[in-house]
Amino acid sequence: MLELRNVSAGYETGLVLRNVSLTVPKASVVALLGANGAGKTTLLRVASGQLSPVSGQVRLGGEDMTGKRSEKLARRGVCHVPEGRGIFPSLTVADNIRLQAPPGVDRRKALKQAIQAFPRLGERLEQRAGTMSGGEQQMLALARAYVCEPQVVLLDEVSMGLAPKIVDEIFVYLRQLASTGISLLVVEQYVARALELADYVYILDRGRLTYVGEPSEISEEAIAHSYLGGL
Ligand code: ATP
Repeated sequence: MLELRNVSAGYETGLVLRNVSLTVPKASVVALLGANGAGKTTLLRVASGQLSPVSGQVRLGGEDMTGKRSEKLARRGVCHVPEGRGIFPSLTVADNIRLQAPPGVDRRKALKQAIQAFPRLGERLEQRAGTMSGGEQQMLALARAYVCEPQVVLLDEVSMGLAPKIVDEIFVYLRQLASTGISLLVVEQYVARALELADYVYILDRGRLTYVGEPSEISEEAIAHSYLGGL
């Protein structure tokens, strides 16, 4: 479905990703793990077209999409739920949902879909998004994954800073999304939960992939090494 082939990418300050190859197969969940600063967000930004790789390819459904803008990838079904929620705090919940729908998607239908997935948002449509609880704001951010009619959803630390009970709820939504046949690429600080959800795991260590496999095969040492730098 989504494939990064030998991707190197970074910023003016230097390369972050070095020769990274990653595949998100159709209807499967891939967890991307790694320490702070390993390059996980950068990888998601490359996958959603927000950042062009210096070398390598981004492919979608077998087609080369390298260098294509994020709007184009969004129209082709790549939905990015960014770190820090990416919502507009001073706009109402309803306006946020309408704005999340990419061009070509019926906004009224999008609103209906979001309310169906998150009834709690339906009760707060006219409330300013910034005045909702952290968990509710995260649900609003996740609503993007329902209204974009996606093929693949990129999720960047969607459970960050939330109470365990809300994190449980968020994972129920992720499982629900995955069960509809949508592919997920999940960056998640709760490693155990991510491993429970995932079909495949990648570990990124200072911009390089150090592990690719199934969650059942991964050793605790490999996880510890990637997070603690071998300490
Ligand atoms: P975290 O878990 O802390 O969010 P991460 O694995 O997602 O980390 P990235 O956010 O991809 O890591 O950052 C990788 C490296 O790139 C870091 O050293 C970071 O400082 C740098 N970086 C990220 N964004 C930019 C930017 N816009 N300009 C310059 N450097 C950046």
